[in-house]
Amino acid sequence: MKCILCHSANTHLLETIPKENLNHLYHKSLRINTSSLIKNDLRYLHCKDCDLRFFIDTQDKVPTGDGAFYNSLNQLQWYYFSYKHEYDYVRDFITQDSSFQNPRILEVGCGKAAFAKYLPENAQYVGLELSTQAKQMAQSQGIHIENITIEEFAKTHQDEFDISCSFQVLEHVSNPYEFLRAQIACLKSDKTIGGGGKSY
Ligand SMILES: [Zn+2]
Repeated sequence: MKCILCHSANTHLLETIPKENLNHLYHKSLRINTSSLIKNDLRYLHCKDCDLRFFIDTQDKVPTGDGAFYNSLNQLQWYYFSYKHEYDYVRDFITQDSSFQNPRILEVGCGKAAFAKYLPENAQYVGLELSTQAKQMAQSQGIHIENITIEEFAKTHQDEFDISCSFQVLEHVSNPYEFLRAQIACLKSDKTIGGGGKSY
């Protein structure tokens, strides 16, 4: 099995997780029905070249949440954080670099766009998020969010942004290689991509 990030074949199986266990746990813990998303057993693999640990199912697909799934998570008070420690790092990165005049910021997987409130006033912010409810929450506060994947967004927004960031999102995407490549395509030349993830 090839690594989903660096495409190396130097991977090994750590564990196989039955789909029944996952669907049962989602229902028991969060009252979310995931049977239409998790249709096959999941394999947990480790890439010995880039050190990524990742899940992929027995049909070589990475199950990911859809809009309905994230709308369900959105009902949980704790799911969309109002603060992540990475926000401070990126805000400081922007404010301490004088070359950023009216910086254009793209956040991918922005939830309710809490990060937008940490940006300097001269920043122009665009967030991408699959949850339609999160978009409504952000819009009510005058924040611009689009319900579109970064891969689709990148087709019509190349070379537009000074900074692209994602916070604890990379572990949710099925194809991290294309996800990062699409973010890079949206950047003006020599600009910055950054973020944080729990497992990366
Ligand atoms: Zn790898």
